[in-house]
Amino acid sequence: MFSKIRNYMIKNTGILIRLDDIAENMNWDLMEKSELLFEEYGIKPILGVIPNNKDNELLSYSKKNNFWEQVRNWRDKGWEIAMHGYTHVYDKICKNEDYFNYGGGSEFCGHTLETQISRIKNGLQKFKNEKIKIRSFFAPNHTYDKNTFIALKNFRINEVIDGYGLMPYIENDIKFIPQLFYKVFALPFGIQTLQIHLNYWEQKDFDNFEKFIKKHSNKIITYDQAIAKTNNSFFYKFINTSTKIILRIKRAIKK
Ligand SMILES: [Zn+2]
Repeated sequence: MFSKIRNYMIKNTGILIRLDDIAENMNWDLMEKSELLFEEYGIKPILGVIPNNKDNELLSYSKKNNFWEQVRNWRDKGWEIAMHGYTHVYDKICKNEDYFNYGGGSEFCGHTLETQISRIKNGLQKFKNEKIKIRSFFAPNHTYDKNTFIALKNFRINEVIDGYGLMPYIENDIKFIPQLFYKVFALPFGIQTLQIHLNYWEQKDFDNFEKFIKKHSNKIITYDQAIAKTNNSFFYKFINTSTKIILRIKRAIKK
């Protein structure tokens, strides 16, 4: 009995590494170090690439001129390339009306369907020009509304790396791969996305990440492996709803 449970847990535990804010301007020093680390452990992360970065905060980092060549190199290594917003500029503030109730700055939530369609269209066009195929998306600051999903589906993008829960699930005809925490740590069970912002890191954060990778490298999975775990059973729906309630209460207390 216990060995059965144990096997089930091992089979359904995995960490997907998601790197956010990948653009011409970023912390290239830590990106190069991360690449070496991923190579060493055979890790294939998912990169959230901003197609047309206009975010002033991000533009303050050093620029790489052959950026898109670099993105193609990562893709050729089997790394997954996702579209992360369009310009990454927050020009709306959501209170709590966004899909996951995060609130805060938004590039998509709160905008008309027309605007959202045009941003997604322009973003995808950039990837197309650069000969990079896109199948997944995540919005800056986790802020979506129903129109974001309509706009995405309009261009046959139906995978989003965000949401609550312990397993990827389908809602509104979108496959969500949950993303719960900012901290570098491993859950004992479930498929989790580890969100990494190299731009905010110092060397000591990277050292900590390196230790984490060494310890958990056998649990790190690829994007395809994460997607393959999509599970819409009642049990996981219940768990997903519970994590949503718990995390929302936690955030409300913090505010
Ligand atoms: Zn971002």
